[in-house]
Amino acid sequence: MTDDVKSKWMEIALEEANNSLRAGEVPVGCIFIYDNEIIATGSNTVNETHNATRHAEMNCIDQVIKFSRDKNLNYQDVFKKVEVVVTVEPCIMCAAALHQLQIASITYGCANDRFGGCKSVMEVAPIYESKVDVIGGIRAEEAMNLLKQFYKGTNPNAPESKQKHNKRKNKEGND
Ligand SMILES: [Zn+2]
Repeated sequence: MTDDVKSKWMEIALEEANNSLRAGEVPVGCIFIYDNEIIATGSNTVNETHNATRHAEMNCIDQVIKFSRDKNLNYQDVFKKVEVVVTVEPCIMCAAALHQLQIASITYGCANDRFGGCKSVMEVAPIYESKVDVIGGIRAEEAMNLLKQFYKGTNPNAPESKQKHNKRKNKEGND
């Protein structure tokens, strides 16, 4: 992937992160690309699911398994060609999962100083004897700005607006 292409894909991941900010989740967006097509898009759903492992990457992994089943493909072969584009450096858990599945590459935006599993806290790849390309710093500032908005509480998804949103959803009978 050239830098231009990476930036283009990152745009879509950033949109996902933006959506997740509005939904009251830590704003991380992720897409998985296979044969030049997006086959999974995901964001954090930790608060929605009350499950601390529902990170953007994990949600995308589930979609790839479904994609493979629907297309009658071996998911292990599919993962080996998947290029991961994610706005924030994958945490240790997600980095481990991605290397375990032997994905083709990881491109991320800003560093994850607290939990980063690509280099910030530790580098998981050598444990899996993975030599895939891991490249960070693509549109890092935009990714970081979304995180800052979330942690400053200036996001439009404070608990109050989330409750309103849920109430509205309930009224519409979507739940
Ligand atoms: Zn993670």
